[in-house]
Amino acid sequence: MGTVIELEQVCKRYGRITALAGIDLAVAQGELFAYLGPNGAGKSTTIRILTGLTRMSSGRVRLNGFDIEREPMAARRQFGVVHQHLNLDQELSVFENMDLHGQLFGMERRSRRQRIEELLASFGLADRARTLVRQLSGGLRRRVTIARALLHQPEILFLDEPTTGLDAAIRRRIRAMIREVQARGTTIFLTTHQIEEAEFLAGRVAFLDQGRIVALDSPAGLMRQVGSWAIDQLREGRLVTSYFASRQEAAAFRSEDGFTLRRVNLEDAFLALTGRKVHPEEGR
Ligand code: ATP
Repeated sequence: MGTVIELEQVCKRYGRITALAGIDLAVAQGELFAYLGPNGAGKSTTIRILTGLTRMSSGRVRLNGFDIEREPMAARRQFGVVHQHLNLDQELSVFENMDLHGQLFGMERRSRRQRIEELLASFGLADRARTLVRQLSGGLRRRVTIARALLHQPEILFLDEPTTGLDAAIRRRIRAMIREVQARGTTIFLTTHQIEEAEFLAGRVAFLDQGRIVALDSPAGLMRQVGSWAIDQLREGRLVTSYFASRQEAAAFRSEDGFTLRRVNLEDAFLALTGRKVHPEEGR
């Protein structure tokens, strides 16, 4: 499998702040790669650089072989992107939003319309084509933005927090759709604060902290670094988690206080390896 997303020593400085301190990364064709980190770690900055919204201070990026600085137009055609903030035109219909996007990519009318129909059908939006975006629920809008990002058949799909603000049932639906997009061969680069989302979807996960990748492995590999079983206990108003290699070891753990025994999850690995909470303000 070829490499479709390639970062070499990517740095980004905002004045005295170093947002990215040398990121090296290679994502293979067809992979679903999750890029996780606490607030301010540099996730959005990375996606903004990869999608041409911000220039890196130094380093090199190739998307499907095209250098984003030397061949920006060709690089731009290699990906579709769903940004954190929805950028659909509220006053246009679903179809019109998609059609406009296809025109921006220079798609000719017939193939554009055919592709829009296919995508609306596969995203369960066929009966919404004429509905104005402002009349859609948040979940449906998110589906439209994902469908639209795939219109020009990009090799890569960037998803920046695709399920934030959606309810549990809709999050599941969107995750199933993301899986289907991957199954059709698209390489997916995902950022999310929903760590179980990465655990469920991703083949490999990078943990980013203060502008550096501090761990990179499969979800199972990252979890193994912590243990297999966990015991949560409340001690003096704080949740304290202990990790064990086996269930036997965990069972031998003696405690007078109440505790919960459970399997280790990716969030445990995240907290242990980045040494911080997903939302630091909640940890105070
Ligand atoms: P979040 O989870 O909160 O979205 P993030 O991982 O996406 O965080 P970034 O938004 O990439 O983090 O920010 C990385 C660092 O760069 C932070 O310290 C942030 O304050 C800083 N930063 C980001 N954009 C700018 C900017 N335009 N000017 C100055 N500093 C910035």
